[in-house]
Amino acid sequence: MTFMNAQNSPTCALIDLEALRHNCRIIKQAMLPSQRMLAVVKADAYGHGAIPVSYCLQAEGVQDFGVARVEEGVTLRKAGLEGEILVFGGAFRGQEKVLLENRLTPTIFDLEAAQRLNAAAAAAGETLAYHLKIDTGMSRIGFLLEDLPEALHALAELSHLRLEGVYSHFALADSPGHQVTSNQVERFRLALETLKTLGVTPGEIHLSNSAGILTAPLPDCTLVRPGISLYGSAPSAALADQLDLHPVMTFQTQVARLQDLPAGTGVSYGHQFVTSRPTRLASLPVGYADGFHRGLSNQVEVLIRGEKVPVVGTICMDWALADVTDLPEVAVGDKVTLLGCDGDHCIRSEEWATRLNTISYEIYCQVGARVPRCYPELE
Ligand SMILES: *Cc1c(COP(=O)(O)O)cnc(C)c1O
Repeated sequence: MTFMNAQNSPTCALIDLEALRHNCRIIKQAMLPSQRMLAVVKADAYGHGAIPVSYCLQAEGVQDFGVARVEEGVTLRKAGLEGEILVFGGAFRGQEKVLLENRLTPTIFDLEAAQRLNAAAAAAGETLAYHLKIDTGMSRIGFLLEDLPEALHALAELSHLRLEGVYSHFALADSPGHQVTSNQVERFRLALETLKTLGVTPGEIHLSNSAGILTAPLPDCTLVRPGISLYGSAPSAALADQLDLHPVMTFQTQVARLQDLPAGTGVSYGHQFVTSRPTRLASLPVGYADGFHRGLSNQVEVLIRGEKVPVVGTICMDWALADVTDLPEVAVGDKVTLLGCDGDHCIRSEEWATRLNTISYEIYCQVGARVPRCYPELE
């Protein structure tokens, strides 16, 4: 597969849309046949590029998309994306009109926002469909079970709003079998009963993120909301082997310069690395501003010519250095893989995440804005 790189940037995030399609199919197999996928493409599709990712998934039959912010939804609409776009974060004050104009579906999790949206919809002469968020145990946003009857009465008064969906979010679904997850499922069921008792029938019901799809398949749900699994990472190590997911992103750069240094030479800021032998260093035009985290300095390897070589010295904002002494054939312009596979070796975002005490989600999201996302050339 060849990838477009219009700027001829040596550093590039290759986005393998074939892997995305593969993951989409694998996840669909894990869903119940009655369920649809609401593909989570917030945060620029976890750094993979929300527009191409959404279009690719749409071609796979996905009609529902989830974003965190109104602006993210607007970006997709401006790119011409049709289908439902649910905004998890709802409309903040002042964003009501742009939300309506762009046919975005807000999440409602407090009455103040509901009133604002109702007024904006009334002014536009429209009825706005929304999804109601229930807090079943995340303690972040959403109506608590005990506040639900009163909230539903208040919402019913707002004649320019129409409840289209109801959902909640798991806090611990990535720890399989956890009691908190069962409690959340139970609270969600009670919330659905409350709705029913009050004569409200939501068209859409959803609860599961990637981890939830694997651990808590719920027959009531019409939608599931995978994010990280679409991009080819498991939500946690505990769920790593559950699905045959393919990483979508390969993070690459090229050797920009080679230099031979004598033993005893200090390297990069702070001279955190000093050569112990005559050493050949490759200068790589990638740094922490690109998402090659400084915390990985002297910690990780990169792949050149299918071999692992160590990153040495402090990773700078724009540069990093690799010790290629043991690979004398390395030349300027050689491909360098930071994340992804080359030959028999692969480096996974999970490895970086472990080193950095974080999760693969954050690794993907922090691939820098200046790194071009390169998509496959059309054949
Ligand atoms: C981010 C998000 C998801 C996706 O979660 P993953 O763990 O990436 O699958 C689903 N639902 C909501 C509300 C989210 O904010």
